[in-house]
Amino acid sequence: MESKKFLLQEKDIPEAWYNVVADMPEKPAPMIHPGTKKPLTVEDLSPIFAEELARQELNETDRWIEIPDEVREMYRIWRPTPLVRAEGLEKLLDTPAHIYFKNESVSPVGSHKLNSAIPQAYFCKKQGITNVTTETGAGQWGAAMSLAAKHFGLELAVYMVKVSYHQKPYRRSIMQTYGAEVIASPSMSTRAGRKIITDHPNYQGSLGTAISEAVELATSTPNCRYVLGSVLNHVSLHQTVIGLEAEKQMEMAGEYPDIVIGCFGGGSNFSGISFPFIRHNFSGKRNTLFIAAEPESCPKLTRGVFHYDFGDEAGYTPLIPMLTLGHNFAPANIHAGGLRYHGAGSIVSKLKTSGLIDAVDIPQLESFEAATKFARAEGIIPAPESAHAIAAAIREAEKAKEEGKQKIILFNLSGHGLIDMAAYDRYFAGDLANYSVSQEEIEANVADLDKLI
Ligand SMILES: *Cc1c(COP(=O)(O)O)cnc(C)c1O
Repeated sequence: MESKKFLLQEKDIPEAWYNVVADMPEKPAPMIHPGTKKPLTVEDLSPIFAEELARQELNETDRWIEIPDEVREMYRIWRPTPLVRAEGLEKLLDTPAHIYFKNESVSPVGSHKLNSAIPQAYFCKKQGITNVTTETGAGQWGAAMSLAAKHFGLELAVYMVKVSYHQKPYRRSIMQTYGAEVIASPSMSTRAGRKIITDHPNYQGSLGTAISEAVELATSTPNCRYVLGSVLNHVSLHQTVIGLEAEKQMEMAGEYPDIVIGCFGGGSNFSGISFPFIRHNFSGKRNTLFIAAEPESCPKLTRGVFHYDFGDEAGYTPLIPMLTLGHNFAPANIHAGGLRYHGAGSIVSKLKTSGLIDAVDIPQLESFEAATKFARAEGIIPAPESAHAIAAAIREAEKAKEEGKQKIILFNLSGHGLIDMAAYDRYFAGDLANYSVSQEEIEANVADLDKLI
């Protein structure tokens, strides 16, 4: 393993987040209030989210949004993160491509999620909020939010998707170590949870259901707000620290990416690595290809429809213009829990439908095969989610070999998989399968969307 690292210093931690909407040639359609059917305002969002986060969510004009000192101070625990040239993987693949990855797995919780958890907790605290609620799939967001909430003195309740609660018990322990309360979702503690348990007693949960439960608790508890780990514009905004650092580090390496890849759940890490680079496509200076890698079992970008849809299962959130499989979509119990989400955020959906970014879907077995190759070549065991980005990078590196082209590939390693070894065990035991979704299932699931608006 001779992989080379490109390291920045603490002073290089970005001082502002990059708001891509300000530069988009066409803006995403507005989010809509489900009651009034009018475009959403900061006032509409403020009962659910901290006000500053609501303002960021709807900000279409400010290209740069200053990162508060208290947030940068906490970023210093692990940022800037390394950019690594994956020479071990290049050798293994015998490819002329140069493969780089941004290593977001070095955060204390093992993923990129802390980049947004910290500002979300900070802006809640600054407003005098005392309690926050959230959902978590594989437990990565919940873990990040637990640490951020503890740091800023907030009480946190986390609804964790039931299948992950059982598959990933150590992420529950991590959240409890940081002092959060963790509830398996669906639960009997909310109306939304009770309804789905009554209708489907064995339902193993989804992010959509867990979001409904968390929003319901937030809106029925005094001085409480809800925080979300993906999908929304302000979450993508916070994650741009990834790409802004990577841009400087690619400069240190003396190269510029031809291809930028991120795995895709709701879009936060893909946005984080991509948006700072896509601005140079908008200005006409570059022509980078952006690839979002989603699981074959949850293919909203490659096979979903573009429509207004709810962000959650029960329909408590605003209507979001998104590529979606329908908010009732129940994805297979794949081990990349963080990618089991029915829709894509409005910015990424707009970029995809405008042909400005690309997407691929990756079968579960291919993702674990890629993860194993990467671990053996680079020493880092990737999160099952991140493995989708690695698989897409390997596909591109193999294509480069066939074409005899020296492509520069950059992907985001969104997290490590050391808490996901049960999934690796099952892969090595031959217990994992691929899950593709039939066209009929997708069509049946999106058929009701026209009734929403
Ligand atoms: C949550 C998570 C994802 C998926 O979420 P996005 O918002 O699409 O980034 C990917 N990788 C890891 C490690 C995660 O924790």
